[in-house]
Amino acid sequence: MPSRKFAEGEVVRGRWPGSSLYYEVEILSHDNKSQLYTVKYKDGTELELKESDIKKPFGNSVAVYNGEPEHVEKNATPHKNKQERVILSAEDSYITTQYSLRPRREEVKAKEIESEEQNLVTKGPSPLGTFQVSTPQRKDLEFGGIPGVSFIMLGLPACVLLLLLQCGQKDPRLLSLPPPLPALHELWETSVCGLYLLWFFVQALFYLLPVGKVVEGTPLVDGRRLKYRLNGLYALILTSAAVGTAVFWGIELHYLYTHFLQLALAATGFSVVLSVYLYVHSLKAPRDELSPASSGNAIYDFFIGRELNPRLGAFDLKFFCELRPGLIGWVVINLVMLLAEMKIQERSAPSLAMILVNIFQLLYVVDALWNEEALLTTMDIIHDGFGFMLAFGDLVWVPFTYSLQAFYLVNHPHELSWPLASVIIALKLCGYVIFRCANSQKNAFRKNPSDPKLAHLKTIHTSTGKSLLVSGWWGFVRHPNYLGDLIMALAWSLPCGFNHLLPYFYVIYFTALLIHREARDEHQCRRKYGLAWEKYCQRVPYRIFPYIY
Ligand code: NDP
Repeated sequence: MPSRKFAEGEVVRGRWPGSSLYYEVEILSHDNKSQLYTVKYKDGTELELKESDIKKPFGNSVAVYNGEPEHVEKNATPHKNKQERVILSAEDSYITTQYSLRPRREEVKAKEIESEEQNLVTKGPSPLGTFQVSTPQRKDLEFGGIPGVSFIMLGLPACVLLLLLQCGQKDPRLLSLPPPLPALHELWETSVCGLYLLWFFVQALFYLLPVGKVVEGTPLVDGRRLKYRLNGLYALILTSAAVGTAVFWGIELHYLYTHFLQLALAATGFSVVLSVYLYVHSLKAPRDELSPASSGNAIYDFFIGRELNPRLGAFDLKFFCELRPGLIGWVVINLVMLLAEMKIQERSAPSLAMILVNIFQLLYVVDALWNEEALLTTMDIIHDGFGFMLAFGDLVWVPFTYSLQAFYLVNHPHELSWPLASVIIALKLCGYVIFRCANSQKNAFRKNPSDPKLAHLKTIHTSTGKSLLVSGWWGFVRHPNYLGDLIMALAWSLPCGFNHLLPYFYVIYFTALLIHREARDEHQCRRKYGLAWEKYCQRVPYRIFPYIY
């Protein structure tokens, strides 16, 4: 067996690729075949190095790598260029670049990284004390890359159309042949399109009202923080008042039920136009205002969103679309379905199943609007750009597929017994408690890690200065909020009974969505927190479902 100089777990100095700089690294493993060591830098970057690129630590350097921030070694080798000098002068920081380095044996990729390094513009220490660089354009594309996002962009609108057509069938089997496509005039009506535009602009008007507190978002790459007005709950109250007044004046909400398909298509058309506008708008955006998820490829960026926070003055388009027209629209659609059920089934009162679906989903929307500030730290706001994915998701997918249970009940009555209803209510409450407590615990911890109310919780420090919760809800599974969300999703579908799979579409889709989202978040956390994240994964092995996954 060939001899090796360094042992696993040993803390040594590893050369930073393309430079003569050495940083503290931990030896993770050694490959006898290639004679390469896999090492881990303090920012979590894993890399394969040759033995000649590794040196013993200076003097009596630390022997245990604990993931805590250490000073960058400044005396390793003379600095060769200006950028290296800037990096080393940021004494208390370590390199937090978002690009990830690939194994040395992947020569082509290494070259790409080198050019990426050259493109990075150093900006100096941010108010957070970390050393920030301009947003790099990603090369590792998510969602199956260009073919994947092209398929999604064509497939999702078709899927919405299919689901709505199926749901209107007498026997809406999820897997049966789709009904014939209606004639164009049945799919498109200009007045419905006008109604949709009116809805969107009325919501925009509510967003502009100077009520509700103004808060700051998370720091951007240049250290700035954008301001956001939180008045989503007021928008819901005003919308309820407007809808109530409309009903009082005898305006027939049933029109929305009879034109549901046209409404969904109008929303789809609008989301496509909005996505085109967003892409064109982003072409003028400076590089450091682009989303970290953008790639430089036009198709991919059209999908994922090129610009991180597109704004018209103070009007934040992404923040507005995330919770207002779609989420409040979902509640209104549910109400329309409740009234349609009474009319079509000639009932004097809505069914218990319909009441539960409406109340459960209203609670979810009220909760989201009540906790509107929490949106500012989600992946959607801080990572993804605003493109087709979020525009279509927020404006079409959420209101028109999340209301599928209520739509289903209009033509497929299901009489729910009170004992069964009680079990479903208990399930919903259980899911809600997990969802809310987990989200609130993390939000409170992120706001103030030394909050005395959280003093009993165990944490792991990470090299970014932030800590991770490893007990309480976040010690139960790694995404307890997703678990709660999924339990609630099941409780929304159960009132529809078991005659068809269609009302469970949301549960199936949402499970897939959250598993995918969890994997994306996991990937990002691994990059952000490196070894500390691995320690967390060891302590809390299950991702969403205890003892299963
Ligand atoms: P999360 O709210 O779960 O946030 C993930 C982030 O939390 C991580 O990136 C990390 O960020 C931080 N974090 C992770 N683990 C820990 C820990 N142990 N201790 C402290 N911080 C930790 O992500 P989402 O934005 O995906 O979800 C927000 C909510 O929205 C969820 O409740 C989800 O269920 C819901 N949702 C609903 C959807 C729907 O369609 N109904 C769709 C998507 C989400 P950092 O360390 O940087 O703070």
